[in-house]
Amino acid sequence: MAHTYNPYENMLAVLEEAAGKLGLCRNDYVALRTAEREMIVSVPVVMDDGRTEVFQGYRVQHCSTRGPYKGGVRFHPDADLDEVKALAAWMTWKCAVVNIPYGGAKGGIRVDPSKLSINELTRMTKRYVAQILPLIGPEQDIPAPDLNTDGQVMAWMMDAYSMLKGYSVPAVVTGKPLEIGGSLGRMEATGRGATMTLLSYLDKVGKKGPGMTVAVQGFGNVGGTGAKLLAEAGFKVVAINDVDGTLYNPGGIDVHRALDFAHTHGKTLKNYEEPGAKRISAKEFWALPVDILFPAAMENQINEDNAPAIKAGIILEGANGPTTVEADAILNAKGVAIIPDILANAGGVVVSYFEWVQNLEAFTWEEDEVNHKLAQIMEKAFAEVWRVSTEKKVPLRMAAYMVALDRVVKARKLRGIFP
Ligand code: NAD
Repeated sequence: MAHTYNPYENMLAVLEEAAGKLGLCRNDYVALRTAEREMIVSVPVVMDDGRTEVFQGYRVQHCSTRGPYKGGVRFHPDADLDEVKALAAWMTWKCAVVNIPYGGAKGGIRVDPSKLSINELTRMTKRYVAQILPLIGPEQDIPAPDLNTDGQVMAWMMDAYSMLKGYSVPAVVTGKPLEIGGSLGRMEATGRGATMTLLSYLDKVGKKGPGMTVAVQGFGNVGGTGAKLLAEAGFKVVAINDVDGTLYNPGGIDVHRALDFAHTHGKTLKNYEEPGAKRISAKEFWALPVDILFPAAMENQINEDNAPAIKAGIILEGANGPTTVEADAILNAKGVAIIPDILANAGGVVVSYFEWVQNLEAFTWEEDEVNHKLAQIMEKAFAEVWRVSTEKKVPLRMAAYMVALDRVVKARKLRGIFP
């Protein structure tokens, strides 16, 4: 039976449990159940054939208690307000868990970008910026790439914002190309942070990474880069599932070759082949006998339909919200360790923060410095989540929420409720 999952309800369920475990009273966190602002915009675009198409766009600002709003923009046919609201709230928790001075936001356009020409995409992106202009800015709300958006889209966003302001404002978005103020290390940051966090976890439980097998869902910025870095760290990537199917090679996929293929074939592995690899179904993918599952595509991918069949002992959440509340309970009962999204994929926003700092300073850092500072932040965040998890005897996800919520609530108490 097909289920529908509401990611916002998913987020609220975990928030409520974390608030209960922290012993918070309702007044402490009730305002965090709703976003501070939700904007729905209409984005009209003149298509190449002269027709006018109107797309729906969103920008949701969940919480600004700890700093300016921060969060990506996705282009996806299923994007809707509840999804963007959940993603915005997850950004609040993510920035709090790694302790960077931001609140949470997210944006999106309900569109299948693969159906638009490059000129249509440019016009749509720039019009979206014009529509959300009153909400964004380097001191206000700083967008970044997410599903189906990349450095090029950020360059168009930065250009539109700058043109409308009348001067160049690199710090309005992060994840930009290097040529216009991007940071070294940003492209790989989410995958790098996930790899670092996995290694920290393995170290705590006395396991060694090299030789462990990994199945990856999603082969874009997070999944593709993550797979490459995991392979470079000695893990054996044996399966990749993307929007066009699943490839399984028990001997280990040649990740660099697969990445080269995806980069030159419309970002998909649809026609990719290599010796020893075969095609399997999505159902078989989730039940593979691997050590680690690395979901890095979309939310709600691990749910009560496939969770019972999962054999992996560790789930490293590269995507935001890949595991439903129901699946979480099933996996916890089976003893599967879940390294939660708000910690595991936070490397991206950490290096986005570094990019913003560099833009504001008008000064660039070497890649070694970026990676070193990223490692410091990720290690500290993992150590804190691990401490709470062991002291309070809660799974890592609950521990991460408790760390994050505690920080946000303390900051709110210091500021008080305006007026
Ligand atoms: P992307 O567009 O670069 O890549 C997405 C990948 O997922 C593609 O390979 C696509 O084929 C695959 N995919 C999409 N729908 C799928 C489906 N239904 N089944 C299987 N595969 C599917 O996107 P990304 O930036 O890598 O983002 C992936 C996830 O990571 C999202 O949940 C995003 O919110 C999250 N995330 C991204 C960043 C970042 O820095 N880009 C940071 C933190 C979290």
